[in-house]
Order: sequence, then structure tokens, then C-alpha cells
Amino acid sequence: MNWRNLADEILAGRVVQREEALEILASSDDDLLALLDGAFRIRLAHWGRGVNVHVLRNAKSGMCRENCAFCSQAIGAYSGVDRYQTQTVEELVEGARAAHARRAVKYCMVTATRGPSDKDLDVICEAVRQIKQEMQIHVCTSLGLLTADQAVRLKEAGVDRFNHNLETSCRYYAEICQTHSWEDRVQTIRHVKAAGLEACCGGIVGMGETVEDRVDLALALRELEVESIPVNFLDPRPGTPLGDLERMRPADCLRALCMFRFVNPKRDIRVAGGREVCLRHMQPLALYPANSLFTEGYLTTPGQGESQDARLIEEAGFYIRSINEDSVPTEAEPAGALAS
Ligand code: SF4
Repeated sequence: MNWRNLADEILAGRVVQREEALEILASSDDDLLALLDGAFRIRLAHWGRGVNVHVLRNAKSGMCRENCAFCSQAIGAYSGVDRYQTQTVEELVEGARAAHARRAVKYCMVTATRGPSDKDLDVICEAVRQIKQEMQIHVCTSLGLLTADQAVRLKEAGVDRFNHNLETSCRYYAEICQTHSWEDRVQTIRHVKAAGLEACCGGIVGMGETVEDRVDLALALRELEVESIPVNFLDPRPGTPLGDLERMRPADCLRALCMFRFVNPKRDIRVAGGREVCLRHMQPLALYPANSLFTEGYLTTPGQGESQDARLIEEAGFYIRSINEDSVPTEAEPAGALAS
């Protein structure tokens, strides 16, 4: 496959087929730089060389009653993660100040739960109102399964985006979680979009799924028209059912990112959890397909720190986008046009 030609066809409006996406994942190491070049052509056209930096906040940790097999916060995991109830409004606002100081365009508050209680929602909504009054930062929340009314409440409070990952393909999901279904997750994304929130929805690769499952996840996200796609690489957590799996090879992580870019060319694609430990010295190459990353670590594991991430971005010839550029590309105006 000539990846450059395929990229040009996609930029001209053609849609990648399932077989082509599978071919990306089956490509050889000899072909990796050519594949990255093709993915970069698409990324450059829509996002320029800008990188959206996001900061996560674990607003309620551990004790989740769901049984997602990858998650160290599930009630059945013997993982020793911190356990605490929903943080106070003051703590959440303080977290936003710290994220703002690190040049984050998005601050994402996450709770380990099946879905938010009324009390949790009150706290999150009040925190969002105060954050929006005090500083220029976009707010994302990730609170589990949502009802239609809860999505509307979040929108009215000023939330910009809601995260809820599909995690994997419909076929493989039952192997990963039995306390809720893949369709439950899809329904939450539909509520999010109906309420006028942007949808952030991605998954985790490296959980024992097939390459077909990876492609089916990317295709499902295309069908749902989610604005943002975090691509996580499993960092197997001790004490979880997936704790003994091996980490993915860096080249396979890069192929997965390229596949998500080819299938979802305009989306805000984030190289997410597992970046440092799975990609290792290959991290800078992830910025060719992906236009976004988390800094300052993840929910239960540390990252390499903000100054290292800033160096990574700048030394690779990219730059950290400001909030004024934090838009999702449209037909009329690719976000990359702002950066050029
Ligand atoms: S619902 Fe979220 S916090 Fe709970 S076990 Fe699943 S991934 Fe972990």
C-alpha cells in the first residue's frame, strides 16, 4: 500500500475501508516510517503541528462497583490504589488552576463509578461553574454512564466535553466487563451528543483483543461521530485480571495510532495512557498520527512530568496549542489552518 496516496485520497474525501484499516495494522516494521508519513499528512492538514495538552484529575478514586478487567479502581482489583470519595469543589478548582498553569487546554475530572449520584453531580457542576468564572480552560468530565437529564445538567453547568470510552469492540467487550454492556456505553455517548456536549470516546488497545477488534472499535467511533478519541495502551496493573499481559511493542502502538488517524482523519486523537511505558524512546513518533496527549500522569499511574512532555513536543518540532486554537476541525475550516 502506498500510504501517502491513501492519505491524499482521504484528504480528498474518501473513507477508509475495513480491509485497508486491517492492512495498516498488518504492515511491516520496514514500512513504519512510510505509514507514519501518511498519517502525518492527514494530521498536518487538520491540526497543523499543534498539540493539545490535557490534564486529568482523579476526582473520586477506587471502590468502583463495576468489574472492568483492566482497571485498578474496580472493587475486585487487589491493586492498592488510593480510595477516596468525591473531592470537594475547592479541591477540584485548585486542580484546574494547576492544569491551567501547565498550559493545558482541557481539564478532565474523572470519577471511578458506574454513574454519578445527584450529590456527585452537584459538586462537579458547582466546580465547573467556578472554574469557568475564574480561568480560560475547557472542561471535560468522565463520570461513568449518564442519563439524558444528567448530560443536560452538565451542559448547563458549562461542561464542554464528556468522556466515556467504548474501550474495545462490541464483540470483545463481554470479555472485559460483565457489569454493564458495550451498548450501555454507546447509549451514554448518544445522550452526550444529544445534550450538545462534545463526545470524547476511545479505548484501550493491548487487552488481548484481535486486530479486527481494534479496527472495529475505530469504525464504531467513526459511526458515532465522536469529536475526540483517546487511544490508551494497556499498562497491565498488578492485581487486575489483565495484570499478567505483556505490554504492546512500540511499533504496534504506532500502527494503532496511525489506523485511528486514517479511519477518523479529522478527530482530536490523543496518545493517552501507557504512552511512556509502551512507546518509551519512540514517544515523539506518536505525535505524527496523534495531535493530543495527557501530561502529568494518569488516574492511578504517574507520567514522565510536564517539563519532559513539553520538551518532547518542542524538540520534535511541534508546539503546545493555546485555548484559542482549541477547536475541532469542521468541513469549512480545518483546525490546522489556525496554526499555520
Ligand atoms: S467503570 Fe470506570 S472506574 Fe469503574 S471499574 Fe470500569 S473503568 Fe474502572
